Amino acid sequence: MDTDLVIVGAGIIGLSHAVAAVRRGLRVRIVERDSRAVGASVRNFGHCCLTAQPDELVELAQSSREHWLKIAADADLAAQEAGAYVVARGGAELGLLEEFAAQRSGVELKTGSEMAAVLTGGERDPAGLIGGAYFPGDLRVDPRTTAARIAAWLQAQGVRIDWRTACLGVGDGVVHTTRGHIRAEHALVCVGHDVDQLLPEVADAAGLVRCALQMALVDGPAGFTSHAAVLTATSMLRYGGMAAMPSAAEVRCLLRESSPELLEMVANVMCAARPDGTLLVGDSHAYDLSHEPFLDEQISARLLAEIAAVFGVPELRVRQRWQGVYASCPDRDLLIEQLDPRTTVVSVTSGVGMTLSFGLGEQTLAGL
Ligand SMILES: Cc1cc2nc3c(=O)[nH]c(=O)nc-3n(C[C@H](O)[C@H](O)[C@H](O)COP(=O)(O)OP(=O)(O)OC[C@H]3O[C@@H](n4cnc5c(N)ncnc54)[C@H](O)[C@@H]3O)c2cc1C
Repeated sequence: MDTDLVIVGAGIIGLSHAVAAVRRGLRVRIVERDSRAVGASVRNFGHCCLTAQPDELVELAQSSREHWLKIAADADLAAQEAGAYVVARGGAELGLLEEFAAQRSGVELKTGSEMAAVLTGGERDPAGLIGGAYFPGDLRVDPRTTAARIAAWLQAQGVRIDWRTACLGVGDGVVHTTRGHIRAEHALVCVGHDVDQLLPEVADAAGLVRCALQMALVDGPAGFTSHAAVLTATSMLRYGGMAAMPSAAEVRCLLRESSPELLEMVANVMCAARPDGTLLVGDSHAYDLSHEPFLDEQISARLLAEIAAVFGVPELRVRQRWQGVYASCPDRDLLIEQLDPRTTVVSVTSGVGMTLSFGLGEQTLAGL
């Protein structure tokens, strides 16, 4: 045996599983195709959306939170217990948040002026803002630096990471790579959406497709100094906990009348601050087996205008734009499959891999 556990993929899912394995005293080796993580794990908001998960994922999310905080301290991550705000700009939106607060712990309702104070420092009065909610339990991590820091921490614990080494096939604990075979007691395949290329039959059976999202980095608006994520009505329809509320149908109906283009682009209009105060802004969702690489300026402009309106500013200065891609399945949040007694696939198929990663790592390792 070359090692106890070999992990394919050094995104947040592979890394969180490696951390859980190292904490159990296992010898771990990671195989990563790129020279550093450049996939979904560095392209996202870094919002650990713990409060608004659907009922069936709440426990996993809470476990993830605990282990995120532990690795944040150990690996000196830019992770903050900053929480998240949800903006209500209409009675149905506020009604949904009130329903959610009545059934989920950790939801604090806010008045319009309290929300305006957070979003603008009291400098402006964003149109339509009538209230909102605060989720103090949500975490904010910096996606641009987190994976690299965790990888460095793992290496300091003796984990070998084979960068620029692609896995060509895996089975019975043997990983075949572009630099030879690696034999382990167990192999974990954590390649995100690339499951469709490495294990097409597994992806096809699960109906897995690629979800492409448009994102931007902008200068933070004046007066906004919080490190909390900021979510909107479209987020209420996206995150299972909120989407299950009775008022969700009315929120959707009103959005269809007022902003049909947001529903057409399957928007989740939200943002999260980086440690330097810039904002990660997004996003739209498009589903396909392969995606055109071209960003649609109309979609970008609409998302940016919507976020500018949340902060009550005429426009936001854009520094960067990019496309992110994650795995998506029509009927499940997680694709966890035991290919044989010594090989397991783990992929998050609902766009909440940052949120669930460390809970999943603990769950998988406990089951090996
Ligand atoms: C724009 C965007 C915003 C998002 N926002 C959030 C958010 O705020 N909160 C949240 O919880 N989630 C969010 N997500 C989802 C989250 O980013 C993903 O669920 C998570 O990053 C998936 O992690 P991963 O490690 O599975 O995938 P990746 O980060 O894509 O890592 C997979 C790794 O496997 C490697 N790999 C692939 N094939 C091979 C091979 N054959 N051999 C070797 N290596 C291979 C790749 O190079 C890659 O490094 C967002 C996603 C996107 C795209």
